[in-house]
Amino acid sequence: MQWVTPPTLVDLECPDREIRRPEWVAFGQELDGMGLEVHRSKGAATPPPALLRVRCLAPGEAPSPDPAIRSISAENPAPAIERLLHEVRDALRGESFPRPSRVLLMGWDDGEVSTTLLREASWMATYARLMADFLDLRHLVRVPDLWLSRYDAVVVLTDHLPAAIAESLVATLRRYLEAGGAVVLPGGIDDDALRSLTGVDGASGEAPLRAWTCDPAFLPGADGMVFRIPEADADPMPLYRLPTEARVLCGARGGRDAPLAFRISKGRGTLVAWTVPLLADKSARGLLLLSLMEASPLVSALMDMHLFFVDDCPLPASGRPVQVEAGAPEVPDGEFYRDRWWPDIHRLVQDHSLRPTFAFVLTYDDHMPDQGTPGTYAEGSPSLDLARAISAAGYEVDIHGFNHQSLSLVRNEWSVGWSGIGSMRTALAMLRTEYQRVFGKDRVPRAYVAPSNFVQRVGKEALRQAFPEVEVLSTQYLDEGPILGQEFGPDPEVPALSNVPRISSEHFLDGDNAQEVLDALVLPGVFSHFIHPDDLLDPERSRGRDWPGMVRELTSLLEKVDRAHPWLTRRTAVEASPHLRQWWKAGLRVLRESDGLLVRVENPPDGGLTFWVRPPRDREVRIQGSCEEVFRSQVESRVVLRSNGGACGIFWR
Ligand SMILES: [Zn+2]
Repeated sequence: MQWVTPPTLVDLECPDREIRRPEWVAFGQELDGMGLEVHRSKGAATPPPALLRVRCLAPGEAPSPDPAIRSISAENPAPAIERLLHEVRDALRGESFPRPSRVLLMGWDDGEVSTTLLREASWMATYARLMADFLDLRHLVRVPDLWLSRYDAVVVLTDHLPAAIAESLVATLRRYLEAGGAVVLPGGIDDDALRSLTGVDGASGEAPLRAWTCDPAFLPGADGMVFRIPEADADPMPLYRLPTEARVLCGARGGRDAPLAFRISKGRGTLVAWTVPLLADKSARGLLLLSLMEASPLVSALMDMHLFFVDDCPLPASGRPVQVEAGAPEVPDGEFYRDRWWPDIHRLVQDHSLRPTFAFVLTYDDHMPDQGTPGTYAEGSPSLDLARAISAAGYEVDIHGFNHQSLSLVRNEWSVGWSGIGSMRTALAMLRTEYQRVFGKDRVPRAYVAPSNFVQRVGKEALRQAFPEVEVLSTQYLDEGPILGQEFGPDPEVPALSNVPRISSEHFLDGDNAQEVLDALVLPGVFSHFIHPDDLLDPERSRGRDWPGMVRELTSLLEKVDRAHPWLTRRTAVEASPHLRQWWKAGLRVLRESDGLLVRVENPPDGGLTFWVRPPRDREVRIQGSCEEVFRSQVESRVVLRSNGGACGIFWR
């Protein structure tokens, strides 16, 4: 990823009498037609950056020894000027063979939508391993058509263009589309200039946006899912009438009369637009990528991780009575966890070949280390039985905490506030002792799941001191209030820790979480989910279902993910850590052919680098070379491949 500036100048160091000659006047006109200006540096010490520097030689003057300067003799300059024009065109196109697949992400930081889109697009490009250039709209003067033609797709990351360049930029993008380019407008089309590019008329009315759907051929797994927007955030959406040839990708009220995203052909090119800036959110990075891949066939890397966490497990029992199913007598919670919850979850883990990650916690009280070790896992207690059953079944048991207080010096809704790193370290040392008493002297946890998904830097340091073996830190992926979501990779504060965040939780896949779940499966290509043994005990988390009902819901959630992404590799949190380290070091190079893409994978992680492509729809697709096809959907035009290194080609006709 890099910031780029389109070239605007050709520098001409020539005397006035020389450039009045018709050959030079014609040269200037040609450049103007290409979107370039002639700049006369007159031998300035520091001329501005130019695409090309040209110097007219005085009679008898030797050519410049500087290879960056083209020297033109005053006698019969016409052939030399012709050669210069060729050179200018080639430099603009940047044509190399073979041609790398490259996208241009243009945006600026004017307003929240633009700033958010710019940030999320940079993560999209990073996770997808796109070859992407960024262009700052704020300082943009002009974009030469030939320069733009080097890009397979252009994403305009804003809900409004700078007034000074709006008209000329839209005209340039229109010519780019006509010539076969791909343009994505993820920021809405309320702006007149942006909307004019789509050819759609102004809004004919508006309606509250409370629920929406996507075509499952666009968003994998979207069949039967209605994504809900909380009442408080349900802004009115403008209603647009789309041309009949437009394909609706997502929409409210069934789509056509309230489109949210659509694809339309423009000349030889393709445009994908969102009518409202729904994509300006971390939870929509996958939709942003899908919009781009709908407009132009690209290759996107996948992290390929299916993670299943059981937080607060093993856990202390409180003795509280639980109604497991309607009509059944109540049982103490510890007995429910041991005798019913665990056998059911164990079966589910086996049926779905999950690689679960358990997170052990000693107490839920405000119990602090100066009160001694809580006796919550006494010999003969159901909590100890549960802990040993999980461990005996061979599962990875990591840690959640001494108590459920976030490791924070600040008192907040998740923590009573620790007095310092010393008290955190003492508590964690006591947790270590209890862990080894329960699971065995030779066992050490290697992952830490932060209580309430919150931990301060000081807490991470205390953790590393008490558990030097811990290499994984898990909180959550999405931002939530003051909790800043994690990314998959080294922790920015303590890089020895790999961050393996969670994307979703609980037993249900529905309008409240399905979009986030399906989105992260597209990008970064991860399912990361957690449940708690006491979800049944919380009316909000159980949603009034009994235990068998909750097991059915969780089963259908896992089945839904498997149907859409059956190739996902199951990993525990600790197994994810070396995979992530290797994944970030892998290289993915993509070259563009007229009807295909050539992919070269370097330094793949153990088990291969997984990636996917969406060829143009309704084409016959052929794979050649060293790639394993792990999934293909004709209806979705989606091919998932895995490579252990080397090159392969994806061709369509
Ligand atoms: Zn917890």
